[in-house]
Amino acid sequence: MVAVTELNVLEKSQWCPGCGNFALVGALKGALSELGIPQHETVIVSGIGCSSKLPHYVNTYGFESLHGRGLPVASGVKLANNKLTVIDVGGDGDGYGIGSGHFIHIMRRNYDLTYIVHDNQIYGLTTGQASPTSQPGMKTKTTPYGVVETQFNPLAMAITGGATFVARVFAGDAAHMKDVFKQAIAHRGFAIVDVFQPCVTFNKLNTYDFFSKRVYKLETQDPKHDTANKALALEKAFEQVKTDYEKLPIGVFYKEDRPTYEDTIPQIKDKPLVEHSLSGIDISAAYEDME
Ligand code: SF4
Ligand code: MG
Repeated sequence: MVAVTELNVLEKSQWCPGCGNFALVGALKGALSELGIPQHETVIVSGIGCSSKLPHYVNTYGFESLHGRGLPVASGVKLANNKLTVIDVGGDGDGYGIGSGHFIHIMRRNYDLTYIVHDNQIYGLTTGQASPTSQPGMKTKTTPYGVVETQFNPLAMAITGGATFVARVFAGDAAHMKDVFKQAIAHRGFAIVDVFQPCVTFNKLNTYDFFSKRVYKLETQDPKHDTANKALALEKAFEQVKTDYEKLPIGVFYKEDRPTYEDTIPQIKDKPLVEHSLSGIDISAAYEDME
């Protein structure tokens, strides 16, 4: 087992006491350690937000990018060296708001990446504005009379958009979260795990108590949830809306095997780009084409 070195998150982090991010980073470290992935072969990329400070608290390579731009940076890292384990982390505002175009198109490509979304249903770092996943009716600084828009459904978007591993977990259940993170990282292809991550400071609706009373695990269902059934996965993704937020399934919704983007590019299929020699490359024909 490879131990992913502890940085003292409690002392060094700028997260509020009680934030769901603490359990999330602990589960991610545990998953990487138990999978035995060496720290020097792991890159954690992020965007901007409370969530995106996470690479500072894990002793792997890290890259804090721009708001909503974690996924293009992560895919660039993967294309440069597809031997690396690459994980992108971000928030709901970051990934489902400004970064939503990247989110949709990265899924079609099926890079071998893991995308973990700290979905606290609010903008935390900017002190409490409604985000794309804010629950209808929730009062925030920007919605004093309650959110009137339809809630963005990341799981439905991922299932229909081409993600090959789609899951959701709750930050109040660390053991389950770690187990699903391990499955997502081990999966070959684009894996998304949306995390119900309570923001204890600005989201007074979707609290630990709120989630604890409503979440249930798909894998304990009888009959067991069939993760290969796309129609069923989609039905489960809409269950929270259909039940007026009374039943919130967590676990693996959908999974499929499909060749990754890297596997279909002959230049990098067997040898990462970083290992190619730069000598003897003649690009004059490309210039001549442009004349
Ligand atoms: Fe966590 Fe919310 Fe505080 Fe951000 S503002 S650190 S999400 S509790
Ligand atoms: Mg957020």
